[in-house]
Amino acid sequence: MQNIIDRFLSYVTIDTQSDSSSKTTPSTKKQWDLANLLVKELKKIGMKEVTIDNNAYIMATLPSNLDKEVPTIGFISHFDTSPDYSGTHVNPQIVKDYDGQDIVLNEKENIILSPDYFEDLLQYKGQTLITTDGTTLLGADDKAGITEIITAMEYLVQHPEIKHGKIRVGFTPDEEIGRGAHKFDVKKFGADWAYTMDGSQIGELEYENFNAASAKITIKGKSVHPGYAKGKMVNAVGISNEFIALMPMEEVPEQTWRREGFFHIHHIKGNVEHAEFEMIIRDHDRNKFEQRKVLLNKITEQLNEKHRDCITLEMKDQYYNMREKIEPVFYIVEIAKKAMESIDIKPIIKPIRGGTDGSQLSFMGLPCPNIFAGGHNFHGKYEYVPVESMQKAVEVIVKICELVAIKK
Ligand SMILES: [Zn+2]
Repeated sequence: MQNIIDRFLSYVTIDTQSDSSSKTTPSTKKQWDLANLLVKELKKIGMKEVTIDNNAYIMATLPSNLDKEVPTIGFISHFDTSPDYSGTHVNPQIVKDYDGQDIVLNEKENIILSPDYFEDLLQYKGQTLITTDGTTLLGADDKAGITEIITAMEYLVQHPEIKHGKIRVGFTPDEEIGRGAHKFDVKKFGADWAYTMDGSQIGELEYENFNAASAKITIKGKSVHPGYAKGKMVNAVGISNEFIALMPMEEVPEQTWRREGFFHIHHIKGNVEHAEFEMIIRDHDRNKFEQRKVLLNKITEQLNEKHRDCITLEMKDQYYNMREKIEPVFYIVEIAKKAMESIDIKPIIKPIRGGTDGSQLSFMGLPCPNIFAGGHNFHGKYEYVPVESMQKAVEVIVKICELVAIKK
């Protein structure tokens, strides 16, 4: 376990926060710091064909040790961390033999990681937790995944008696700003399928995610002296209000769960002359997803008729539910499930209320379910990861490689 801890700490203490306002790949220069280290490390543990391209996408191969052909599989994770919270000077705290009580992350600022609020903590009593010091995120998302993949590959290199086919490893920048898969060269990767090690708690296995689109509504108003405005003023603020009132009020993130979709307005600004708001549209069901977009078009039409074409609606699809790409090759989920069960992990299979790199990769021709990496409370100061969960993820990777080697 010390090997895992040391490796993980050496990654999370390097700042790799991505930045959605940047146009470059990687979006931040500092991501190269860890990328270059990972290349060295992959070579050091004995991986072959280790490459890094101009956009910092890393790939490597563990050659097959079989004398027959079996499918080539891959394991993928991302090395950037979320722009939502600082990743500078991450100062991880190690809590050995966790006693189930409050963990004081930062005494001075009274920041407490408490099982009263984060009940999941209690399932890790007696285990070793790695937490933040309350001032940054941890970066277990997804440096836990990277730690696990490299540790598993190292284990397979050191244990040639374990038989496996060709294994490919891929590490990407910029997943957190939705661009992890964009420049991923699926052809060069050359795997039949892959798994992202980017889920949360132990046991998670995911192959369903949202269909996703974004929308921007812009309203052009007309400002006139309010005392003499009758029949003349067009108030963009008022029309925004009208638009929003025509949307289903209960279908919002704070009132939906499981497979329920939503509209989420996350930005609004305006005055009489000009108003605009932005939203995201999410639904697991492709039909309902399309209907949501139809509704926005209808509202726009209706109000444009009433207010003389002052509204512009721009919509863009972002990603789709990978389920339709996974179902025809469902054995790749079965293999992961079997791998977990064979080492006494109860698979937790549920739809993701978000997207993963894997959903985009699945539509790019690389079916790619998501497996737990072990961390909790991603993108904030309460993020933590139990070392035992990382250890188990390593074992799942090794087991999957074994199972694919004997797949009929
Ligand atoms: Zn992640």
